[in-house]
Amino acid sequence: MHIDTITSPELEWQQEALCAQTGADFFFPEPGSSVREAKRICGMCPIRSACLEYALDHDERFGVWGGLSEKERLELRRVSR
Ligand code: SF4
Repeated sequence: MHIDTITSPELEWQQEALCAQTGADFFFPEPGSSVREAKRICGMCPIRSACLEYALDHDERFGVWGGLSEKERLELRRVSR
């Protein structure tokens, strides 16, 4: 009998996350440090829009998600209200 691996469909998209291969350090930099490298990696990521959507839906406050810094996501949320 085949037993499927149990994965949460909501998090399935994360299997293609480029940041999972590079490590989380770039994506959660110390306050004031550059997020340029994280954004560069996001720019090549196949699931960038799903990632950004997830971060906005779940009100993720820290780190770079979907190519946007926490400040940029706040701004996006503010203008799309
Ligand atoms: S868009 Fe960026 S933060 Fe999101 S999964 Fe891809 S590499 Fe990670």
